[in-house]
Amino acid sequence: MCYHSGMKKTVLRRLLCGMMILLIGLLPACSAQSAATLSFTAMDTMMSLTVWDGADSCARIRDHALELDGRLSAVDEHSEIAALNRDGAAVLSADTAALLRRTLALCEELDGALDPTVYPAVLAWGFTTGDYAVPDDAVLADLCAHIDYTAVKLEADAVTLPAGMMLDLGAVAKGYLADEAKRILDESGAAGAVLNLGGTILLYGQKPDASPFTVGIADPDAPASYFGTLSLSQGVVATSGGYERYFERDGVRYVHILDPATAKPVDNGVLSVTVVADEGVAADALSTALFVMGADRAPAFCRENGGFDCAILTDGGTLYLTEGIADCFALCGGYDFKIVTVSADPAAEE
Ligand code: AMP
Ligand code: MG
Repeated sequence: MCYHSGMKKTVLRRLLCGMMILLIGLLPACSAQSAATLSFTAMDTMMSLTVWDGADSCARIRDHALELDGRLSAVDEHSEIAALNRDGAAVLSADTAALLRRTLALCEELDGALDPTVYPAVLAWGFTTGDYAVPDDAVLADLCAHIDYTAVKLEADAVTLPAGMMLDLGAVAKGYLADEAKRILDESGAAGAVLNLGGTILLYGQKPDASPFTVGIADPDAPASYFGTLSLSQGVVATSGGYERYFERDGVRYVHILDPATAKPVDNGVLSVTVVADEGVAADALSTALFVMGADRAPAFCRENGGFDCAILTDGGTLYLTEGIADCFALCGGYDFKIVTVSADPAAEE
């Protein structure tokens, strides 16, 4: 995992870059009298909301985030998903069933790189408790045998799981919240909003000065700093990074994103994937799945499938950028990543 190799950067430059984005993030809130802000913890992460001209939407979005967390969290024993995992069958609320249906469709589109049935493996590696362990080969083989989203039976709102299977919607929950928050902002007639939902960001409407939104992409090696920025007018920006949760044993880093094919933490050299899309669930699903696909498969998937953009950073210092965001991306000073543009037309790639 030699992330530093070939990268010339100084701590000072990284700090300056981080501070710059922080200032950019703060500017809109200072310049608009009607900006409402709210911070809280939900889905095991900090969330912060800034909404212009839609005062009641901050509280509504927070309440909805907490409600969704209580409904979807696999680790909350009172949730719908925990009850399903315990009993192997459940009649879900209509909204949860709709999210599961959309997630299963995305699993198919993403060639199984996204698979919510990895949950028993997530548990076995200790990512839910912090009580980390490296399962032996026999255990891994058994875990693999229970990873198969196609075996989830969903009829209307009733879902049935084969024995030994459990679900985790953690890879799409924040994206779903972004979609729900957008609906709330629509309903309350908000003029604009920047919602940071634990690293999944919704850019909505317009800022008071109508300038584009600036989103920093975290440096996996120093997540409080940013290696680059995206200048965007709208959409959901979802990032999956190994740095978000991992443990180390005998010099090996084990990250919280698992390869459904092996039940093991992904170890393919990808450090982070940022996806920009209109739909939050798709953005969140894609960021997780492209992380699993890695530099071998993800660029080809991007070429063949439109409707989103992404930035994929590898430990070799290569940054793959789809052409739709190549022009609105700026690399911060001190980073010398090799940028590879991914285009639907390979002849146009640099
Ligand atoms: P994200 O941060 O959106 O990439 O989601 C990662 C979380 O989803 C992990 O912490 C696990 O709970 C779960 N997860 C890990 N690997 C996968 C996978 N391949 N497909 C679906 N969910 C996963
Ligand atoms: Mg995700």
